[in-house]
Amino acid sequence: MNIHEYQGKEVLKQYGVVVPEGKVAFTVDEAVEAAEALGTPIVVVKAQIHAGGRGKAGGVKVAKNLDEVRTYASEILGKVLVTHQTGPEGKEVKRLLIEQGCDIKKEYYVGVVVDRGTGTVVMMASEEGGTEIEEVAAHSPEKIFKEVIDPAVGLQAFQARRLAFNINIPKELVNKAVQFMTALYSAFVEKDCSIAEINPLVVTGDGKVMALDAKLNFDSNALYRHSDIVELRDLEEEDVKEIEASKFDLSYIALDGNIGCMVNGAGLAMATMDIIKYYGGDPANFLDVGGGATTEKVTEAFKIILSDDKVKGIFVNIFGGIMRCDVIANGVVEAAKQVGLDRPLVVRLEGTNVEIGKKILNESGLNIVSADSMADGAQKIVALVK
Ligand code: ADP
Ligand code: MG
Repeated sequence: MNIHEYQGKEVLKQYGVVVPEGKVAFTVDEAVEAAEALGTPIVVVKAQIHAGGRGKAGGVKVAKNLDEVRTYASEILGKVLVTHQTGPEGKEVKRLLIEQGCDIKKEYYVGVVVDRGTGTVVMMASEEGGTEIEEVAAHSPEKIFKEVIDPAVGLQAFQARRLAFNINIPKELVNKAVQFMTALYSAFVEKDCSIAEINPLVVTGDGKVMALDAKLNFDSNALYRHSDIVELRDLEEEDVKEIEASKFDLSYIALDGNIGCMVNGAGLAMATMDIIKYYGGDPANFLDVGGGATTEKVTEAFKIILSDDKVKGIFVNIFGGIMRCDVIANGVVEAAKQVGLDRPLVVRLEGTNVEIGKKILNESGLNIVSADSMADGAQKIVALVK
């Protein structure tokens, strides 16, 4: 689960991570009020969306007086920001963070992630702050330093010091940087984060070490023990189809293509997307209906796919091992009846109860193209949506 920058900063503050003073605003008037309350000569108006790259897209503006705050707030609120993380459709800004302006001396990067390679938490730091860390990793990987953290003892002071020295934090501020990293690590562990990324971490003119940006992601498997974090969820930032899918415990991820996929098993779902791509098509989603899906669940899955206007055709690719083909067939027929199937549908069924499944589909009166194999199905659906 993802939260907004201003919420992330509130969480981090509880653990002693230094952040600028700031307040959320939902309207232009609230933004001006918040700036007035801050009382600092420089105020930064920041778009709050669940995506980074806002600065470059015009979503972060430095205001020198209240009139400028008003101007920038009216410009940014309601604007659709397109950044490298939002996708081409962008995200509408509905909240702002009004924050005290910082006298930045230098920007750095600090991130905490769960590293699947070592099976531990890793803290990464770089002197190349403010830019995308993916860029740094691609062009100058030697500028990223990592510390593997032993879960039994946590981040050790010597590790934080080593990171601080490696990224050339000024000597007199190394202790503050160590405190910063230690606090960040505590927040990460105690709140069950999957990512805590501070880009940039800054050193200021008055000798502070603080987080100017904060991206926190939380492990959804652990949310049951963090009701305070669950409250921060902003459903407006999430894909409606994904929210709907999560209600029915379906693994669904919306993508940009036009071929809706309904598959059982994550591996087969990945392979299905690959084969669609291979034959020149574009999947509209990843969807794993799971092993023990009921007719109701399959019906919901099918409805979610159909609710996507981008979907020009559907490919159902099922291997009935635990999942039975007749259940899938019933779900498809039921959903088609409820919402009306107005787009081409290719079905490839194999496995348990395949004959019954095919019979249900054949007798349904629906216009279904059946396929003998994955490759056959993929070619057929790609041709039909063209
Ligand atoms: P994003 O990563 O989405 O572009 P950031 O929060 O990192 O958004 O802001 C982009 C840039 O704007 C920062 O790298 C920093 O230079 C500047 N900035 C952000 N917040 C402040 C602030 N409070 N004071 C001064 N400059 C800021
Ligand atoms: Mg940033």
